[in-house]
Amino acid sequence: MTPSNDNPALDFLRLSSKRRPVVRFVVAATVLACILLVAFAAWFIETTRQAQIAQTTVATSNVARMVGAQVESAMKTTSMALANVAERVEHDGTSPAALARLQAHLVELTHTTPELHGIFVYGEDGAWLATSLDQPVMANNADRAYFQYHREHPGRNIHVAHPVRSRSSGIWVLPVSRRIDRADGSFAGVVLVTLKVNFFEQIYDDLDVGRTGTVLLALDDGTVVYRRPFDEKIIGTNLSHGAVFQAIRNKSAGAEFLTASIDKIERLYSYRRVDRFAFVIAVGQTKDELLGDWKRSSFLIGAVTLLIAALFTLFGRKLVRQIAIRDRLDQTLRAYSEDLQRDNQGLHELAHTDKLTQLANRRRFDDMLDHEWRRAQRSNAPLALILLDIDYFKKYNDHYGHPAGDACLQGVGAVLAASLNRTGDLPARYGGEEFAVILPATDLQGALAVAERMRQDILDLSIAHAQSPFETITASLGVASFEPGGKESLSTADLVVRADMQLYQAKAAGRNQVSGAAFSATGADANSGEGQAAQ
Ligand code: GH3
Ligand code: MG
Ligand code: MG
Repeated sequence: MTPSNDNPALDFLRLSSKRRPVVRFVVAATVLACILLVAFAAWFIETTRQAQIAQTTVATSNVARMVGAQVESAMKTTSMALANVAERVEHDGTSPAALARLQAHLVELTHTTPELHGIFVYGEDGAWLATSLDQPVMANNADRAYFQYHREHPGRNIHVAHPVRSRSSGIWVLPVSRRIDRADGSFAGVVLVTLKVNFFEQIYDDLDVGRTGTVLLALDDGTVVYRRPFDEKIIGTNLSHGAVFQAIRNKSAGAEFLTASIDKIERLYSYRRVDRFAFVIAVGQTKDELLGDWKRSSFLIGAVTLLIAALFTLFGRKLVRQIAIRDRLDQTLRAYSEDLQRDNQGLHELAHTDKLTQLANRRRFDDMLDHEWRRAQRSNAPLALILLDIDYFKKYNDHYGHPAGDACLQGVGAVLAASLNRTGDLPARYGGEEFAVILPATDLQGALAVAERMRQDILDLSIAHAQSPFETITASLGVASFEPGGKESLSTADLVVRADMQLYQAKAAGRNQVSGAAFSATGADANSGEGQAAQ
């Protein structure tokens, strides 16, 4: 029996060669199923991550494009207002009457254009000539950078300056300006339009970029005009060394994960230039936020996958265990069955073998005689029987003792076994000191020859027998041969009786001889064989 062991790995090693491939298959199938499951889950998780990123990229680029369009539109309105005012001043001059009319025009312009904070006209010395504000603060702006820029740069291009806090209203404004020329092209002053920074705030705060997303509007030199979430301190600062500006350096648009230098948060940014007016726009959605839902569903998918993989493994383990248990049971049963077969074989031998001579016993003799009798009739072949009786054996026993008698019986038994050379021939101990030999498909002639050879071989054993007239152990043999055909009214008993009669004849004729006769199915005895004396 296989010793029991709790470790299935060791059980596996002890499996029969028949079961091992099955277990290998189960193990391989389980491992493959787990690998496929995990691979599929990993692929699915990665695909959904990329899809989420792609979707967010599209959304942020759309927002960036929209903001760009909005900035462009505000700047177009602004540049139209600048051109309009500059043209007026250049044409109408700066007489008090002209300035009064200009003033009214400026007020009307700002009222119809909500993004405009104010419109200002400066003379060549930087003093305010006209303004859209209701209560003008007449200050000198000759120190402002845009003023100095236009004074030094002839031309009608517009100039966008860094955002400043308005001297008139205190709010953050983006100054956009244009030069006013005299008829001879010399510097006559500057028209300035200030755009409200909080105008952008109102628009950008409504954009859906997530709770922690950002929208940045900057000049392309890196100066922040507006950034959501709004922080006054950031306006006007320079981000040219920040991640977005590094990324956009040689591009007009793009999208990628960047970590903002302002708050160190990683975001998926879509950025683009508004080339015509030298603005840069960046819209970013926080990585943690954009992948939040994905992370939660991935965690769930991962957990379920691992659970299923664990179930697969458990199931595979259980199956392997079951196979191992079954295999052990099979092996045990097989061992039992082999033992049983051996025992049966032994019992069979025991039940059919004579213990003393190791020849077939009477029971086996009877079975075989029946069997051969039927076969002889089926195949229409003769069947011969020899009955052999040791002469004066009682005297031998009495003289030499029972153990010597047993030894003598063994010797005679061995001679019988040795003197037969056809596999179908069966020597048996018939009982006491009598033996019988079945000779299938043997006629009288052949059987007589076998019997004679046996008689001679027993004689040749030369077992001294002082009480016998032959002075040695001899045997008498009666032979009967049956020739099938005709009525089948005879039985094996007839064969035995006839052989016994011949044995009696051999005894009567003086012992140590063979007597035989053949008989057929018709019941008539045929020719008789010669008896033969040894002396
Ligand atoms: P006959 O020549 O007429 O055959 O005389 P016999 O003495 O051989 O015949 P009988 O049948 O009178 O004697 C048979 C004897 O065989 C009787 C018995 O003592 C002996 N015998 C029978 N079976 C065994 C056995 O298994 N062992 C021994 N030692 N003797 C046996
Ligand atoms: Mg006898
Ligand atoms: Mg005898």
